[in-house]
Amino acid sequence: MKSILIKNGTIIDPSQDLEEKRDILIIDGQIAPNGSSKYAVSEDVRAYGSSVSHQTIDATGCFVTPGLIDIHVHFREPGDEEEETIASGSAAAVAGGFTSVCCMPNTKPALDSEASIEFILEESKRVGLANVFPVGAITKGREGKELAEIGSMKARGAIAFSDDGVGVADSSVMRKTFQYCRMFDALIMQHCEDHALSGGAMHAGLVSTILGLGGIPAEAEQLMIARDLLLNRTIGCRYHVQHISTAFSVELIRRGKKDGLNVTAEVSPHHLLLTDESCRTYDTSYKMNPPLRTAQDVKACIDGVIDGTIDILATDHAPHLAEEKELEFPYAPFGINMLECALGLYIKALIEPGHVSWMKLIDMMSTRPAQIVQLDRGTLRAGAVADVTIIDPEVAWKVDMDSWKSKSRNSPFDGWSLKGRATHTIVSGKLKWSQHSA
Ligand SMILES: [Zn+2]
Ligand SMILES: [Zn+2]
Repeated sequence: MKSILIKNGTIIDPSQDLEEKRDILIIDGQIAPNGSSKYAVSEDVRAYGSSVSHQTIDATGCFVTPGLIDIHVHFREPGDEEEETIASGSAAAVAGGFTSVCCMPNTKPALDSEASIEFILEESKRVGLANVFPVGAITKGREGKELAEIGSMKARGAIAFSDDGVGVADSSVMRKTFQYCRMFDALIMQHCEDHALSGGAMHAGLVSTILGLGGIPAEAEQLMIARDLLLNRTIGCRYHVQHISTAFSVELIRRGKKDGLNVTAEVSPHHLLLTDESCRTYDTSYKMNPPLRTAQDVKACIDGVIDGTIDILATDHAPHLAEEKELEFPYAPFGINMLECALGLYIKALIEPGHVSWMKLIDMMSTRPAQIVQLDRGTLRAGAVADVTIIDPEVAWKVDMDSWKSKSRNSPFDGWSLKGRATHTIVSGKLKWSQHSA
């Protein structure tokens, strides 16, 4: 048997509301029987003593948390392997402290069949770094017309369904989706954007007018959220709003939750840290969808995190080739590369200003995401799968895209000074990455 003993760290486990200095032992891919009970780890070590080969990690000054889970990444395979693959994306994930990710289906072809779901799961297993859980397309080819094979994809292991990149525009298709997914208890993740209102390159407002760039109005996002909440009101399908970005979107979710609707929401780091003012440089690393909004929207998103309206912190990791991002602003693709700096960015956006505690941050990056996609992870309970992230909250570092495992380099955060990062990433009881090996 193989084991890892993590010594001298402070455990933060939101699933047990536990924040305490203690050791933790991993045996055979699981948190050891006494691994979460006080003073008992040494008994475990003694009990297993000679039968195991111990690896010891000194976590002095660090937090030991359930492995971080990002339910919104783009890994570009199949189709755009020069931008990212399951292998390079998984390497980026563990280097950023993530043990599990959910990959979106906007690949070429789209993940809209059992075979494509199987491909992702097999490839993830072969690579053997982070767990990669595929999200299947809602509609065939993500065309918004005909429902994809949702039932059989779910049976094969699709963890949720989304047409991400676009929202499902047709209300009757969306109603059918909710009804169908309710029967299978399938989770819908919606990219909320009404394309009839949309089509621009940045947030529609004062800055876009000054720059002469086409806009994406806040209402494009809000309309689809409002429509979906209304359509799903009497159906009650599990419904998750992806990358929320506007103040009134947050308000819609807040009211929906108050009304007892089945809705959850996520935000991305850039929507807590940047505004559309950044687009004045015409630098396409500030081009993403939903776009950077106003300072008032940023504040509303932070308030939504603080009061629990926004359930989780995701990344929307979206790698793109440099030559594509070098196109002029209106023509460059949307999206930025995130996995290897997201944790530090969330610490900067939420911990440093005192908006949330570490317990809440880990809850929003591990325990809650696991609950939303119904994964038996996001916990350090005895017997749980040993997905563990060790975080040094004090280390100061600089984002350096050149050191990234990801295949792409598109980020507005290159060169940013951050505090706090993952030092070790353990997946199913195996050390997959450490700062020292990097
Ligand atoms: Zn999206
Ligand atoms: Zn996305």
